Amino acid sequence: MHVDMDAFYASVEQLDHEEYRGKPVIVAGIGKRGVVSTCSYEARKFGVHSAMPTAKALKLCPQGIFVEGNFKRYGEVSRAIFKIFDDYSPLVEPLSIDEAFLDITGMENLMASPKEYAQRLKAEILEKTGIVASVGIAPNKFLAKIASDLEKPNGLTIIPHDKVQECLDPLPVKRIWGVGAKLNHQLSLLGINTIGQLRQADYKRLVKQVGDNRAQKLAQLAQGLDDRPVAPRDKAKSIGHEVTFGEDLYCQEDEEQVLLDLAVRVGWRLRQAGFKAKTVQLKLRKGDFTTYTRQKQLYDASNFDEDIFQAAVELFR
Ligand SMILES: [Mg+2]
Repeated sequence: MHVDMDAFYASVEQLDHEEYRGKPVIVAGIGKRGVVSTCSYEARKFGVHSAMPTAKALKLCPQGIFVEGNFKRYGEVSRAIFKIFDDYSPLVEPLSIDEAFLDITGMENLMASPKEYAQRLKAEILEKTGIVASVGIAPNKFLAKIASDLEKPNGLTIIPHDKVQECLDPLPVKRIWGVGAKLNHQLSLLGINTIGQLRQADYKRLVKQVGDNRAQKLAQLAQGLDDRPVAPRDKAKSIGHEVTFGEDLYCQEDEEQVLLDLAVRVGWRLRQAGFKAKTVQLKLRKGDFTTYTRQKQLYDASNFDEDIFQAAVELFR
């Protein structure tokens, strides 16, 4: 799953300033060499886009609201979003401040469907941060990143195995990660403008034009093949799950049911991440917000639900 916020900086500005909503907001460097970092969808209608010189954006959209940006605030919102990601996958690979890959391989038991899972994630991001995300789900990273972009803004696109070629073929080659202006031009010299044309291109001619390594990579991507794993940057030192109740719990059976549910989720995430835990910690917050944390060491490091559950029940009692 690839998750990407829509017009992130501009969206945060519109969130924080009611008077910016529905208007062309352009977050850009001011000054002679300033460039646009993000602009709202209202500004895109005027032809403004990121990486464009601010001076040009001013010409295209003189009525735009130009702001230099509050990067401390963007970082804050980003952290809140990544915290949500952690609840949806044990393997999160950040790509930038506002996008990440989430490995949801093998999580079928935790979701009604991948689509429902993505809808829940989008809803939670919107509810907790006010930001709209687009999601792409596909068999690999390359395709997931393409998918998240297909129906932006507020997109949710799934590319199943049997639809890969159909989705890819009509897209321009520059949609391929790493195909910039220069490579795009080289390919156009061979009459290759779409990914479909790239897939069907004569391989020898392709090698001659762009070199061995590149040709090989391009040919694979054009077929939708990509075996890079989702690679989290920092390995988690702890994995946890928590739940807040709308109404206080009173009976012990309910409490044990909750502990079991949490233990199963944590155990699952540990196993997915290939970890075992040596310590189990329980955090309990009461209706008046008094918070208790208690922890215990397991005899042997474990990722079994039952071990985690037993420890949690002991700690709870
Ligand atoms: Mg984005």
